[in-house]
Amino acid sequence: IPRNPPPTLHQPELWSDDFNDFICKCLIKDFELRPNVLDLLQHVFIKQIVGKEKILQKQLIELIDLNQQIGVTEKTSHMKTQSDVDEVDDLATLEYLDEQLQSRYGRDQIYTYVGDILIAVNPFHKMEIYTPEYTKMYIGAKRTANPPHIFAVADIAYHQISLMVTFCRCCHYYGESGAGKTESAHLLVQQLTVLGKANNRTLQEKILLVNSLVEAFGNACTVINDNSSRFGKYLEMKFTCGGTVVGAQISEYLLEKSRVIHQAVGERNFHIFYYIYAGLADRKKLAHYKLSDSKTPKYLCNEHIKLGPDIVSNTFYKEQFDAVEQCFKVIGFTLEELGSVYSTLAAILNSGDIEFSAVASEHQTDKSGISNISVLENVASLLCIRSDELQEALTSHCVVARGETIVRPNTVEKAVEVRDAMGKALYGRLFSWIVNRINSLLRPDTGFTCGLNIGILDIFGFENFKKNSFEQLCINIANEQIQFYFNQHIFAWEQDEYLNEEVDARMIEYEDNRPLLDLFLQKPMGMLSLLDEESRFPQGTDQTLVEKFEDNLKTKSFWRPKRVDLGFGIHHYAGKVMYNAAGFLAKNRDMLPADIVLLLRSSENELVRKLVTHPLTKTGKEDKWKRNKKEPSEQGDTPYHPRETTNMRTQTVASYFRYSLMDLLSKMVAGQPHFVRCIKPNNDRQANKFDREKVLVQLRYTGVLETAKIRRQGYSHRILFANFIKRYYILAFHAHEEPAVTQETCAAILEKAKLENWAMGKTKVFLKYYHVEHLNLMVQQAT
Ligand code: ADP
Ligand code: MG
Repeated sequence: IPRNPPPTLHQPELWSDDFNDFICKCLIKDFELRPNVLDLLQHVFIKQIVGKEKILQKQLIELIDLNQQIGVTEKTSHMKTQSDVDEVDDLATLEYLDEQLQSRYGRDQIYTYVGDILIAVNPFHKMEIYTPEYTKMYIGAKRTANPPHIFAVADIAYHQISLMVTFCRCCHYYGESGAGKTESAHLLVQQLTVLGKANNRTLQEKILLVNSLVEAFGNACTVINDNSSRFGKYLEMKFTCGGTVVGAQISEYLLEKSRVIHQAVGERNFHIFYYIYAGLADRKKLAHYKLSDSKTPKYLCNEHIKLGPDIVSNTFYKEQFDAVEQCFKVIGFTLEELGSVYSTLAAILNSGDIEFSAVASEHQTDKSGISNISVLENVASLLCIRSDELQEALTSHCVVARGETIVRPNTVEKAVEVRDAMGKALYGRLFSWIVNRINSLLRPDTGFTCGLNIGILDIFGFENFKKNSFEQLCINIANEQIQFYFNQHIFAWEQDEYLNEEVDARMIEYEDNRPLLDLFLQKPMGMLSLLDEESRFPQGTDQTLVEKFEDNLKTKSFWRPKRVDLGFGIHHYAGKVMYNAAGFLAKNRDMLPADIVLLLRSSENELVRKLVTHPLTKTGKEDKWKRNKKEPSEQGDTPYHPRETTNMRTQTVASYFRYSLMDLLSKMVAGQPHFVRCIKPNNDRQANKFDREKVLVQLRYTGVLETAKIRRQGYSHRILFANFIKRYYILAFHAHEEPAVTQETCAAILEKAKLENWAMGKTKVFLKYYHVEHLNLMVQQAT
């Protein structure tokens, strides 16, 4: 496309009615069409799209605008000084990666490429490299024209989809907690909304707000990160063929629901609870939501932090509450929905304060009663259910014996369990509902999409704490799976280059974590299957579970330490992790008593009803439940994941997890990935502090060192003939000579330097890293 667009394109009134005529005019005017426009035109001709001419005309114009923009930025980026470009920005070929990263970090160069991977070292201070000038600088610029940057990754991903090479691009973030994954994902989305010039500002704004909204509900303050994501997120941005963003969809994975009822030492509940508590206090609405400003809800002040009135007076929380409300409104939630969301959150907070005490009666000594009925009434009124029914559902349960339904009392312990299960269930389901609602509000109109999208995966990294439980196991399995994908990709990428250049290279060895994946996911003998099997046995306990693991998992990667009853160890790709199986079965069953489900279904609040109704229950089973209200399932409980797809009784967290992992993987495999590895330079969240040992450990287990090794084991340096000759011709030719750019010239230089084991490709010389060292030394001596 020439710098000056053809007049016709911006004057729709000049268009002929006949679309083909229009295309022809374009072609005549612009014989220098860029590949992306050509692609679009080809698409038009091949598909012979009838009736969509207007849309395509619009897309064509957008594309041409975009190309113009590229033209402009290419010019500006060329103005950069040579010294900016000369620095080693790609470390794939270098040894001592950590040393290089450290010196770059010292110069505030937080981004570095290792081959096709971007490494981002968390600066822990505000950087002036995300300004609109930077946004512009990276649009359509060559990778080598600017220093490495997250915006460059956005640009590559974007232009690859615009070129319609593939239909999906994914950007994956890896790194431990606090390494900067979520920040990087934000920056990427920010750049993509600019690139994909949303038709209207609102859509652009909405997409950016979605992140903030789900993070208010899914993030929490932990000992490691003040804004730690406690769920995995996959955000897909949808584009037209012309590269305009038209919508977004999110998927969420493994929300850490246990945080609602319990937080570890020094940690907090999900942000939203503090926001709403302070926000409602600010608006003098606490009483309306049955909250008190003098008595902090138990779920908010765990035994270690007594926040008390600190929360209500916290201006940051108040501002955040306003911001969250604004997000909801802009994205399109109704005021009624908002009210219901607040009521549900307030109900959860109140429910944590329901207290039970043992009630002695003639026959039963383990009965429980509620000691603060007014709190119970508050919860019932917020959920729009009857308080006597709530009391019954908390303090008793039904069992079916010989066709008869018997009501059995709950012990205090059991009642507390039911109360907490309800809190977790309501929160988990509320989160899923919000995500689904966002998806329905941001779904693009059909007709505007042609399957082009960019997916951004921000998922927790490996976790290895002092005490590791079921949540850590799931998170680590997810990472194991993603690592496997990473290996495959990097490996395949390497092989491809050899194939393309027709270089005969031996297979590159890398650490394959496939056996570990089998250990977890294989059916029927993998860890998750065994876990499910044990969860189905009413007599199963955490003890019998670990014994089952021990009997069936015969591999070096699994072991049981002698002195820890429920302990077992796994040698993950990223290192050894000791798990404790206490609570595994309960967490996997994730039961919400049927009585609670039925009760919530009777709520007069539409949202509350929706939270406990899901497509599955619209089957015949539902009718049966209605007719015989008190008939509980086999174990008297109902697993409560809102999106379960199989039988209600058998759906466990593990099987749902396996399903979502497969779902995620299918999305990842469909696209061409871009990897961003986030590195945490120190444990103190301090700027300008680079703990080399810590960085090295991360580089090792995230596979970055491995990648560099792969590059070295193979031919780490692949230099285009012209560049090679320019650099080294002096070793075989006279200074004034200008040897031809051919294979022969390159071979002559290499032979003169007495090097062996190199390879010659069709356009590049393939060298080992020591070849280059040797050549450089020789050049130094020669000049
Ligand atoms: P993760 O998602 O990997 O757990 P976050 O993205 O939440 O980590 O980052 C943790 C903190 O590090 C952020 O809250 C922010 O203070 C800081 N941080 C991360 N990336 C950047 C960046 N590019 N510039 C400035 N600060 C950053
Ligand atoms: Mg995060």
